[in-house]
Amino acid sequence: MTEEREKNVIECYVCGTVETIPFRCNYCKEHFCSDHRNPINHSCPFVNSYKKKRQDMLHGNQNNGGPNISFSQIFSKIIHIKTSKTELLHLTVATLLVTAVGLSLNGYRYFSWQFLAIFISAFLVHELAHKFLAQYYGSWAEFRAQMSGLLITAISALPIMPFKFIAPGAVMVALSDRKKFGRVALIGPVTNLVMGFSFLLLSLFYSSYSPYFATGASFNGWIAMFNLIPLGVLDGQKILEWNKLVWAITIAAAMGLFIIGYL
Ligand SMILES: [Zn+2]
Ligand SMILES: [Zn+2]
Ligand SMILES: [Zn+2]
Repeated sequence: MTEEREKNVIECYVCGTVETIPFRCNYCKEHFCSDHRNPINHSCPFVNSYKKKRQDMLHGNQNNGGPNISFSQIFSKIIHIKTSKTELLHLTVATLLVTAVGLSLNGYRYFSWQFLAIFISAFLVHELAHKFLAQYYGSWAEFRAQMSGLLITAISALPIMPFKFIAPGAVMVALSDRKKFGRVALIGPVTNLVMGFSFLLLSLFYSSYSPYFATGASFNGWIAMFNLIPLGVLDGQKILEWNKLVWAITIAAAMGLFIIGYL
């Protein structure tokens, strides 16, 4: 917050974007940009009244809203994906760099759609899982690349680099609930564990494809392991602050997956 901010400039309460014609929330009375005007997207304290009103409008008030959330309600929450040109650009650049790091593991000698699919999904599914769960919890959530992270990832894409770091950015969320924040952090590495162990299982049944399956297992294990390091903005720090046992179990599983896939 700067002191000398002009009086007639109104910033979005969530992201600080300056809006000439800002939107004012009817519930909490704060100002927002077009991305955050919806109470669901600015973690509005009155989001439940908003949802109830919308629900009543959609269903003609015959639904008395019990504790059971139907599959279609969950689906409609996820399908209302909010994104922006900025996010799509950041995600694209980050995905390209991560794929390059993956291909650099073999010195860019093996190009195949299988390898590309493994590298792209290991990164994208992880990040999108953070985003969707945070949005499901009613938070604004968008991926943002960070310059230092992009540089480290780009350097890791050089074949001569013995250690590879994949940290091009992170999904930014606006959640104050510690438990929800922890779960949003956890779901990223968990997607890699699920994909990695699935690859491991497949390799037991279809040995002819095993180079792909082994790569899929170790690459996912490694992405999970790296993100679980309890440092800075990495998922590991957020999970450890929330629940030490959950963190210990997840990082042990990630290490196991990485080592078995590598052998
Ligand atoms: Zn905003
Ligand atoms: Zn509001
Ligand atoms: Zn993550």
